[in-house]
Amino acid sequence: MRSKFASKTCWGDEYMLYRKLGSTKEEVSILGFGCMRLPVLDDKPDKIDNKLATSMIHYAIDNGVNYIDTAYPYHGNSLSEGGMSEVFLGEALKGGYREKVTLATKLPSWIIEDKKDFEFYLNQQLDRLQTDKIDFYLLHTLNRTYWPKLENLGVTDFLDAAIADEKIKYTGFSFHDDFEVLPEIISAYNWDVCQLQYNYMDKNYQAGIDGLRYASDQGLGVVVMEPLKGGVLANNVPLEVQSIWDMAEIKRTPVEWAFRYLWDDPQIDVVLSGMSSIEQVVENIKIADEGHPNSLTFDEKDLIREAKYEYRQRIKVGCTGCGYCMPCPSGVDIPHVLNQLNHFYMFDDPSGARSHYYGILKESERAINCTECGECEKQCPQGVSIIKSLKEVVEKFGS
Ligand code: SF4
Ligand code: SF4
Repeated sequence: MRSKFASKTCWGDEYMLYRKLGSTKEEVSILGFGCMRLPVLDDKPDKIDNKLATSMIHYAIDNGVNYIDTAYPYHGNSLSEGGMSEVFLGEALKGGYREKVTLATKLPSWIIEDKKDFEFYLNQQLDRLQTDKIDFYLLHTLNRTYWPKLENLGVTDFLDAAIADEKIKYTGFSFHDDFEVLPEIISAYNWDVCQLQYNYMDKNYQAGIDGLRYASDQGLGVVVMEPLKGGVLANNVPLEVQSIWDMAEIKRTPVEWAFRYLWDDPQIDVVLSGMSSIEQVVENIKIADEGHPNSLTFDEKDLIREAKYEYRQRIKVGCTGCGYCMPCPSGVDIPHVLNQLNHFYMFDDPSGARSHYYGILKESERAINCTECGECEKQCPQGVSIIKSLKEVVEKFGS
């Protein structure tokens, strides 16, 4: 029988590890490159720093990363228009790089209103990506609202036809809802992969550990997103958490602990990282060198449990910074505002949070501008009580 833990290949100084992705024939790098947080110019999401981002992608591929993930809205200004991530990749993967990777992108589920839309968006995405075939075509953000809509419009027939036409190779979906919603979706089609949010803080959130086990047991490849919970597990680590990491016999960075926790699980195939700098790419590739399944000791797993406990005492809002709630009709920069509320609680740094709040956010972007229309809460895959949290921000930071 072929080993699920497919192979290990040396690329210069580092090894990249590969796992067989579910029941597909693909052997994919345990580190996947998520193209939603590429470096940008002038702080504008649609102005990708092409030169730097291209060098990051090429470095990653040259060092063994072969799973590249994007989606229709990534690096755009609104969810209804195509962002620049797919367009960027179409250019960046020229010169032989396209052939070295498996490319995943996603159908924008929220835009689809008619069965004609399926083909319209797929064709547009093939053009934007400058490719004849998408390796993994996922339905983006399936939940209890979008799945019935797409199913009723005949999405499974569309996927069958797209495979027959050789426009896509494998199918899948990304999932943002409670575990209870997952079995119905999985049983409705012969999916190849599913993409779930999972990290050591989110074991019982959304699909959680139950969803991960269920999907893998059904033969789907499991792609994990948000390994660092939108960066909060990597940045400004509080002293109490750092002192837990410092107790480890083998010293590792907080980023390394978060990734190692995931790769330790034999039912996780790929961990996506939305890398924003060349330093992150280099660091993550180095970390992936040792991401073997079942490689953490009992004591190391215990340390992770302690760190989780410490964080749990602090995180106020489960916002991952995905931006799906944007744009707010009243101009509130919801993810950045909520980020400062979390900063306030998690990092023992009220004055820093307050000064970031006033330094980063223009007057027109602050919480005080919220009119409580509720549009953002309908879009939030994390179920954040945005209005309530914004009121708390006003209480804490003033107007
Ligand atoms: S509820 Fe407030 S933050 Fe949300 S979209 Fe409406 S005005 Fe913007
Ligand atoms: S509030 Fe929700 S939709 Fe908005 S950025 Fe945070 S997690 Fe994403």
